[in-house]
Amino acid sequence: MNSQTQYNAQQPMLGIKNNTQMSYQCGSCSKANDIKPREPIRCRDCGHRILYKKRTKRMVHRNKEV
Ligand SMILES: [Zn+2]
Repeated sequence: MNSQTQYNAQQPMLGIKNNTQMSYQCGSCSKANDIKPREPIRCRDCGHRILYKKRTKRMVHRNKEV
């Protein structure tokens, strides 16, 4: 009998898409902002820091999300 047990080494999840770009809507001037993950969440037009995701309309803020 052959009992083959192969374990694949689990790789850390570093393969996150680089060019993922989210569309946010400014909570102040309602202008659309395309923001990449590494960029600060901030309206490029008026500088407002509270932006809403266009899809979920969930508030995005720099505070920790509970
Ligand atoms: Zn704005």
